[in-house]
Amino acid sequence: MKVIQHSVETLQKALISKHKDLAELYKKYTKEEQRLLEEGFHAGQQGSLFQYITVHSDSDWIPAHPEEPQDFESFYKDPYRKTPSTSQNTIYIQTIGSFGEAGAQTDQYVEWLRAYCQAFFYGLTVKLLPAVTVAETGCSFRLNSNSYNLQILTGDLLRFLGNRKPKDAFCIVGITMIDLYPKDSWNFVFGQASLSMGMGVFSFARYDDNFYTRNYAGRLRKHLKPKKGDYSVFDGYYTPPITSTLLLRSCKTMTHEIGHMFGIRHCQWLNCVMQGSNHLEESDRRPLDFCPICLRKLQVAIGFKIADRYKALLQWMEEDQSPVSSPEEASACQSSLSFPKPTHAFHTCKLWLCRCLSILQGDL
Ligand SMILES: [Zn+2]
Ligand SMILES: [Zn+2]
Repeated sequence: MKVIQHSVETLQKALISKHKDLAELYKKYTKEEQRLLEEGFHAGQQGSLFQYITVHSDSDWIPAHPEEPQDFESFYKDPYRKTPSTSQNTIYIQTIGSFGEAGAQTDQYVEWLRAYCQAFFYGLTVKLLPAVTVAETGCSFRLNSNSYNLQILTGDLLRFLGNRKPKDAFCIVGITMIDLYPKDSWNFVFGQASLSMGMGVFSFARYDDNFYTRNYAGRLRKHLKPKKGDYSVFDGYYTPPITSTLLLRSCKTMTHEIGHMFGIRHCQWLNCVMQGSNHLEESDRRPLDFCPICLRKLQVAIGFKIADRYKALLQWMEEDQSPVSSPEEASACQSSLSFPKPTHAFHTCKLWLCRCLSILQGDL
């Protein structure tokens, strides 16, 4: 395991910049906001809010995909980055296919994701487009010849999203519980995006704890050859059970991918939701929120007060939670068709947000 330990000077330059105008701009943050952002300089110390990135193996993102690190200054000066405007300030989410056994469960799950994104990208509006079935997208699909699960073609879905993108969209994001493939020769892909077009499509299929096991219920019979254009194979097709971990993973993926739409590149500074990820274990290791450098990038793009954003995220974690109950009660609860938000996987994030807020409120 290798720790990527930047010096305080490097982190200072990455956050504040040596450029006079950007250093001046930084001074507009309140004393408390600066204190929070500069918590990153104490990474590695016990109890620090931000930690150094650790590389666990050569299959982790950073050794596998060497990229130029993006500091605040290079983000700010990137001529291709996109900033929401008053006429384009809505993030649209398009659900493709089912997200749970009952329709009401799909609606509830996607609504949790929508509300989470709206708190995360505080100041923008996040709207759901009416959900569509796989058939309605007219996309190509196949049975994966190794894992025997159904997969849909990303390029077709991006074309579909392009046609549905409303005029006031900052970006449009398609989400699905069905596995994706980008071309015949590829085994699968988690998602695909076009930053210049402001759209992307992402699958949560592989976030099912059983996906890589023999018990995975999304495997179909090996000899099944779905016919082109016959979407009936998707009727009642398996979707992952909605759990707290699935919700946590989905929230992380959505916000990471939408973060790219603003021109925020993979983070190599500190532990951060914008770190690249090569596999599920690495995604799980990523925190739910930004490091100070990426936070400043988003703050400058949207213009929120940092405390307001943290408060909105905390509120999302605290409202409509599932009550702490015994397993029997929990299953009775599920069958009664009420779907309390399963937020127990967010517990440490909640404590973290409270600590950030006490710095911002000057309590510490
Ligand atoms: Zn990424
Ligand atoms: Zn970061």
